[in-house]
Amino acid sequence: MTFRARVALIDIEGTVGSIAFVRDVLFPYAQERMEGYIATHREEPWMRAILDEAAREAGLDVHDLPGITAALMRWARDDVKVTPLKELQGRIWVEGFESSGIRGHLYDDAVDALHRYHDAGIALYIYSSGSIAAQKLLFGHTVAGDLLHLFRGFYDTTIGGKRECVSYERILGEIGSAPNETIFFSDNVAELDAAREAGIQTVQLARPQDGTVPTTAHTSVESFAQIDLIR
Ligand SMILES: [Mg+2]
Repeated sequence: MTFRARVALIDIEGTVGSIAFVRDVLFPYAQERMEGYIATHREEPWMRAILDEAAREAGLDVHDLPGITAALMRWARDDVKVTPLKELQGRIWVEGFESSGIRGHLYDDAVDALHRYHDAGIALYIYSSGSIAAQKLLFGHTVAGDLLHLFRGFYDTTIGGKRECVSYERILGEIGSAPNETIFFSDNVAELDAAREAGIQTVQLARPQDGTVPTTAHTSVESFAQIDLIR
């Protein structure tokens, strides 16, 4: 199938990389090291800022280090989306990617397609709920090497939620791209619906490995090998 586009906006989890990598590798990596990492860095200003914000969020005294640590560990276990936790996980992952040899999982067909689309002159952008810092870390250290050079830009939920039409309108505005010259790839139907509402072309990646249920509401494929993009 061929689509005409100048800009491709791409989700990460379940789209270019497996959901299991984030769930089974990245999150446990941060969780296992969290307590020790907080203890080691607790005097440093950036960690103090994370701890103070976590204390505010949890309604704890800023000096209650055991209480704050327990709150952060609980949020991590329950996958609560709070900024101080995201910051902390991001810091721990830097160590994981740069020193412990973690490599971001990407499906082979996704690696191939990112190169094909890039070589065809399509401007590639990421839109993921992981922080922009974490996105860059992942694409700088993937199973296929450093792929950062393939991307023109990165967006996270600081621009708005992925299920809200207005987020896609804001991204179009920032990129300066017309909706009908833009295509969005995601595994998630609610995200695809929101992008379509903004006038963007949509394709669902329904990967059997991730257990994604194919939708009939959008073009749905199992692999990027089925999608060509031309300007
Ligand atoms: Mg996804």
